[in-house]
Amino acid sequence: MTKDPAILTSNSHPETAIPYCPCGSQLRYPHCCQPAISGRQQAATAEALMRSRYSAFALSETDYLIATTHPDYRQGLDRQSLIDPQTRWLRLQIIATTLGSEQDASGQVRFVATFVEAGQFGTLEENSSFSRIDQRWYYRNGDTRVKTLKPERNAPCPCGSTLKFKRCCGKR
Ligand SMILES: [Zn+2]
Ligand SMILES: [Zn+2]
Repeated sequence: MTKDPAILTSNSHPETAIPYCPCGSQLRYPHCCQPAISGRQQAATAEALMRSRYSAFALSETDYLIATTHPDYRQGLDRQSLIDPQTRWLRLQIIATTLGSEQDASGQVRFVATFVEAGQFGTLEENSSFSRIDQRWYYRNGDTRVKTLKPERNAPCPCGSTLKFKRCCGKR
């Protein structure tokens, strides 16, 4: 037996060492977006692809973002501008999904992503279009609207944690 608390913790609760998926599914990353991002498994639906691309943005998985962009829209994609190291993605909310099932050739997903960039909080709302070619979903393009957030110190944190902003992402 060991008294090392770190070893005890990892032995008694191995699951807690595995982080939750950034997409907010409440699943552990290896059971959610990681199989798609690592290339082991295709995203089955347009929404699953959208979620995995959000996670790829959050984790700076640039190759996956390029690989899952529809070939017609891949030209001119700039690795540098895809990932902004200043931006931290905090939350994903799916608003609506149209088509995009395993039987469809196209689909649309409307979502809101919350971020913070150099201390400035904001949301990006997008209606994204996806197509499926040879059983693979690809992101085409989307209408994007960016808004600035000014969270109140006592309001719920925009990251969705249910904590007050001042006790969460607004901590100084
Ligand atoms: Zn996920
Ligand atoms: Zn927060």
